[in-house]
Amino acid sequence: MSDRYSVSKAVVTGGAQGLGEAIALRLASEGLSVAVLDRNADGARATADRISSQTGSPVFGFGCDVSDRGQVKEAFAQAAEAMDGIDTYIGNAGITRDRMFHKLTDDDWDQVIAVNLTGVFEGLRAAAPWLRTEGPGRVVLISSIVAKAGNLGQMNYIAAKAGVVGLVRAGALELARFNVTVNGIRPGFIETPMTAAMTKEAYEATMTSNPLGRAGQPEDIAGAVAYLCSTDASFVTGHILDVNGGMAL
Ligand code: NAP
Repeated sequence: MSDRYSVSKAVVTGGAQGLGEAIALRLASEGLSVAVLDRNADGARATADRISSQTGSPVFGFGCDVSDRGQVKEAFAQAAEAMDGIDTYIGNAGITRDRMFHKLTDDDWDQVIAVNLTGVFEGLRAAAPWLRTEGPGRVVLISSIVAKAGNLGQMNYIAAKAGVVGLVRAGALELARFNVTVNGIRPGFIETPMTAAMTKEAYEATMTSNPLGRAGQPEDIAGAVAYLCSTDASFVTGHILDVNGGMAL
């Protein structure tokens, strides 16, 4: 592993596809061992196998629905056993259930909070026994540009993603004494299966309004995660990094 990293054992939630897959690939290509967790267990294992043969790093796939506390605890324990510990946690799994607030069902609210906020916290809690030990650690939590800028029809999602910013601030202070940094990323519009569902009009409106004139790619987020996990970022903690092509400055 390159000396650009002082950590070596990463868990990535929601890692079967999209941003999580790109993050897992990037960390494995930097020489870290990676555990890919996803509610799509077959997808997690297939992605892990693909990344492992592509990079030569040990990559493991486990089924885990982050909205189920028992599954989170069990999957993190399995990941720790496979990698002989955990020193890096990437809280990435997320969903959308978009509607204007007066049309949100109880389930729309509960599911999005359970996955995007409680699920991110549960991952941190499940990783605690390994993070709260001697030696460097890294936590990167995925928020969203809408936590800064707001958006129509996403009140549940925005509340959860703003909550993730709170987890970063609180986590940075609580884990600093263990030499663990805790940072967040607010991605802008990134082309993944999540955003493939956008209408052509919404896609074009997003593209034309981006100062850099393009949609973000999963590799743009993976690169930011790699930086925050590297030794270059060892004095950066409690920070929220906007990776969005200059939108909502
Ligand atoms: P994606 O393509 O939908 O991938 C998300 C992955 O997470 C999928 O494999 C999904 O499985 C999995 N997942 C969903 N719910 C889960 C759960 N309860 N437990 C474990 N895994 C679960 O989404 P993405 O675009 O890569 O987004 C990744 C993260 O970035 C999310 O937190 C999202 O909110 C955030 N984000 C994305 C963008 C963007 O423009 N793409 C912008 C800002 C923030 P299934 O396939 O079974 O659903």
